[in-house]
Amino acid sequence: MLLPLSVPPLMLTTGPVPVYPEVLKALGAPVLYDYHPTFQEFYAAVVEKLRLAFRTDIAPVIMQGEAILGIEAGAAALIAKDDVVLNLVSGVYGKGFEGWAARYGKEVIELAVPFDEVIDPQAVRDAFRQRPDISVVSLCHHDTPSGTLNPLYEIGAIAAEHGAYLIVDAVSSFGGMDAHPQSAHADIFITSPSKCLGSTPGLSLISVSKRGWEKIERNSDAPRGSFLSLAAWKDASIPGRTFPVTPSIAEIYALDAALDRYAKEGPENVWARHAETAAIARKRLLELGIALWPKREVWCAPTATAFRLPDGFTDVELRDRLLNEYGILLSLGRGDTSGKVLRIAHMGASAQPDFARTTIEALSSILSQSID
Ligand SMILES: *Cc1c(COP(=O)(O)O)cnc(C)c1O
Repeated sequence: MLLPLSVPPLMLTTGPVPVYPEVLKALGAPVLYDYHPTFQEFYAAVVEKLRLAFRTDIAPVIMQGEAILGIEAGAAALIAKDDVVLNLVSGVYGKGFEGWAARYGKEVIELAVPFDEVIDPQAVRDAFRQRPDISVVSLCHHDTPSGTLNPLYEIGAIAAEHGAYLIVDAVSSFGGMDAHPQSAHADIFITSPSKCLGSTPGLSLISVSKRGWEKIERNSDAPRGSFLSLAAWKDASIPGRTFPVTPSIAEIYALDAALDRYAKEGPENVWARHAETAAIARKRLLELGIALWPKREVWCAPTATAFRLPDGFTDVELRDRLLNEYGILLSLGRGDTSGKVLRIAHMGASAQPDFARTTIEALSSILSQSID
């Protein structure tokens, strides 16, 4: 089979990301029968490694589908007919959650800010003051199409203070910075192997709190006997239990390698590498006179940098020139940021200061050519 490119581009995309060499190697291992005792023990060990990475007391679950499955399954399981959901919207993914909240809950209250800003914790406090009946809060931590980072821990503490449940989309932040479910008071916390962990797309990694599981068990409308059933995976990692469906064996191998790598490099070192790469990208962009998409630099995520298009370029033109002339692939905007930004991801293997430098060098030479 021919790959579309003989030399892969420098893929600084916001997911999928270039996977670590250890992950590629793991994908080549023999695919075992899922009820082979060796696989069952292996699966339990991977879930334990994920628990350690999540820094939780309770075993997380792995669902067999790209992270949107985990987010939708989390909403379906946790949000019940009598819930009033405060949906925090600072970007495309936050806005997208509204559909699920509305489908499963009684009412959705939206707290929205322009997509180049972030949620102010004080506004969340005010929302609780006005509506003490808010029972669930939903937050996208890093809304990737905007490259903005919401104050997860502050918002988590406010939700906890009011006894509300918290659902967090941490798909593009976990593994690239300090973002953990238990310290954020998250009852459901979803991430993906295919962003900052540097593995493949195809799985949803989900932490559920103790009281989250209790609420799911009480919720008679939570999916059961369905591909969307989060509860079906609760004890799947206990050897001897049956899996609701066949796990994606090769993806589990890949995840195992990515978690080993994360632990070996050391989470704090991994986060520092992401933060440093993003800081270099921002500094060099600003030096070049290119504006960041977020209104304030302190709102920028350490795992992706969104910048406004320099005059005279469309997003596709600039993206294609970077790819065709320099072999560097960036992501376009999405939804509200579509046509307005390009995005450099710093996720997993792509979080390398030199990649940020090379990208801005390439941008700089494209811009200087257009001035001639
Ligand atoms: C990547 C991502 C997801 C996963 O969804 P896709 O749109 O299928 O890539 C969910 N939430 C966030 C914030 C993401 O960055």
